Amino acid sequence: MMSNQNNSITKEAVLVTGGSRGIGRAIVERLMADGMHVINFDRVPPLAVAADESYFQVDVSEEKGLRSALADTVAKFNITRLVNNAGIVRPANIDKTTTEDLHAVMSVNIAAAIICVQALLPTMRSAHFGRIVNIASRAALGKEERIVYATTKAGLLGLTRTLALELASDGITVNAIGPGPIATELFQSANPPGAPATQRILDSVPLGRIGQPEEVAHLVASLLDSRAGFTTGQVVYVCGGMTVGLSQ
Ligand code: NDP
Repeated sequence: MMSNQNNSITKEAVLVTGGSRGIGRAIVERLMADGMHVINFDRVPPLAVAADESYFQVDVSEEKGLRSALADTVAKFNITRLVNNAGIVRPANIDKTTTEDLHAVMSVNIAAAIICVQALLPTMRSAHFGRIVNIASRAALGKEERIVYATTKAGLLGLTRTLALELASDGITVNAIGPGPIATELFQSANPPGAPATQRILDSVPLGRIGQPEEVAHLVASLLDSRAGFTTGQVVYVCGGMTVGLSQ
């Protein structure tokens, strides 16, 4: 673990998975700016570990290592907020998708989220307070060449709604965010710049541009706020309007 232990003692703690790059990094930076201590589980460290950050090298697809890192963090920090952000894609259509793809994507996009929730629940329940945000995708609504990705992200919405019901009496809210095209390495590797399919996506955004990771982080911060206690089981799309109206 790399961290600044002094800051971690007094600040409210939040666990973010996949917080070293992309949307996850913007979430980590925003939550630190809002005064929280962030625990970041990622395979690789961020370019620089911040003063208000504790970085744990964790591959969230490896159940044993994930559970062990969770046990360590739960013992050290009072974590009542969780952002399940780590996600992988493996683009393929139904003819090319393999069950190996399915299991690999499920382990990161779904299983890790469930394991993190399970580990943090005792702390949230004893505080009678908790905030969980799952980063889904507008691909959950259906997207060609994304068979297992869309399947897992739709599954994350079912998980969000079911957790919202099961945990409501514990004062824990659970919501999902469905980003549209956001300028990150994941988007660029799945949608190569200049490719006709990429251009079609960008042309179909009503706001006429790609989104920025900070715009997703803003909604995450809002849903994690203690004042957001009457919003649960919802999915909000941060997509420049792409999910509104008829499909192109
Ligand atoms: P990036 O690939 O840019 O970043 C994902 C981060 O998660 C990386 O730091 C990555 O680490 C980490 N990660 C991936 N797998 C694991 C793992 N097994 N264990 C630990 N960390 C892991 O993705 P984005 O920032 O674009 O995506 C973040 C979330 O937003 C994902 O859930 C994605 O599905 C969702 N999303 C993104 C959209 C977009 O347009 N960008 C659109 C819709 C949804 P490493 O460097 O090791 O790969």
